[in-house]
Amino acid sequence: MIKFLVPDIYLNSVYDLDLELLKKKNIKGILIDLDNTLLPWNSSRIDEKMTEWLLNAKKMGFKFCIISNNRASRIKECAEKLGIPAVEGIAFKPAKRVYIKGMKILGTEKEQTAVIGDQLFTDILGAKRLGLFAILVRPLVEKEFFFTRFMRRIEAKILKRVLKKESDKN
Ligand SMILES: [Mg+2]
Repeated sequence: MIKFLVPDIYLNSVYDLDLELLKKKNIKGILIDLDNTLLPWNSSRIDEKMTEWLLNAKKMGFKFCIISNNRASRIKECAEKLGIPAVEGIAFKPAKRVYIKGMKILGTEKEQTAVIGDQLFTDILGAKRLGLFAILVRPLVEKEFFFTRFMRRIEAKILKRVLKKESDKN
């Protein structure tokens, strides 16, 4: 199980993502989480910097699709504002179906698809189970649903162990 919880990259935010590196890896499509990855949790305020980042990435040839466990109406509203499609409420991450549907929308194969999200047990777990390139980012804000907060504490512990294991390897 733990190997499915290890992201390929761990970043402070999407802004630190090396898009050239993804290009070299032949990544063409990105499944991206909404809350705390693209937007602050449960807020519809879209940061201008984020819009620009998306635009630039699109110009570089990347396609995006939102995968979110939030309410369908909120996902739809944000997807429209951001100008990118979203997987519509068929299941919840980490269910494989969500990612498979997303890849269908992107028109990409597994090895051409990356996933960006802020949670190990949803975003990353689902990505790794399918063998997708998984990018973990730090949550944009800490104000969250209490269950998410609880999971974060567990995540922090696992991440610490994982990072230690990685550094032991090097
Ligand atoms: Mg999230």
